Amino acid sequence: MGLPGAGKGTQAMAICEDLGIPHVATGDMYRAAKSSGTELGDQVKPYLDAGRLVPDDLTIALVRDRLGQSDARKGFLLDGFPRTLPQAEALASMLDGMGKPLTHVLYLEVREEELLSRLTGRRVCPNCGASFHVAFNPPTREGLCDRCGGTLVQRSDDTPEAVGVRLRENLERTKTLADFYEDRGLLRRIDGEQPIATVYASIREALNGGER
Ligand code: ADP
Ligand code: AMP
Repeated sequence: MGLPGAGKGTQAMAICEDLGIPHVATGDMYRAAKSSGTELGDQVKPYLDAGRLVPDDLTIALVRDRLGQSDARKGFLLDGFPRTLPQAEALASMLDGMGKPLTHVLYLEVREEELLSRLTGRRVCPNCGASFHVAFNPPTREGLCDRCGGTLVQRSDDTPEAVGVRLRENLERTKTLADFYEDRGLLRRIDGEQPIATVYASIREALNGGER
């Protein structure tokens, strides 16, 4: 977990490649639905475009369905879910039902002023989902994805207006969720303002049972 732009997608992709587990990112799933024009895509488009959260019932159903697929049996990494208390409660009951308790909640902490420049300079690959930054993490060849060679684009919700809405939508909820998981002894706070490789090393340490 972490606010928009905290580095969740960047780190999640590397962890999932390392551990061989699926990367379950609700934002990526919604963007895919939107661009392929499915019924779900049409339903969520206004929320995504404005930077607002999609209603809980839709998001919970989306994740429940995804975790029921066979590749999730060996474990998975959730990115961008849960974002609200009802989502966290629904997740707890889904995982109970699967006999797969949550093992770690990684919280990437980044100050708001840093998030603004991260989000407005972000460029993403619509083909494989990789995330770059024009200044902080530029691709080797300008405008092209290092992982798959796709053409990088700017997300439609990375405009200054939508970024403002997204931060407001998420600030309080993220704090509430952090408390929820702290109370359950699951939260691992990670300093997300370190360089990407250092954040990654901190995550690996937290996953290996390192200091909290
Ligand atoms: P999230 O998935 O949490 O919204 P991303 O992983 O897409 O965030 O990262 C947001 C932006 O910040 C991207 O442009 C990414 O390249 C950049 N970024 C990610 N981690 C760092 C970091 N540790 N330092 C500087 N920039 C970063
Ligand atoms: P992200 O890629 O995580 O920044 O998410 C992009 C957008 O997808 C958000 O601004 C929301 O509109 C929607 N979204 C992603 N995850 C959730 C969630 N857990 N709950 C509600 N909406 C979500």
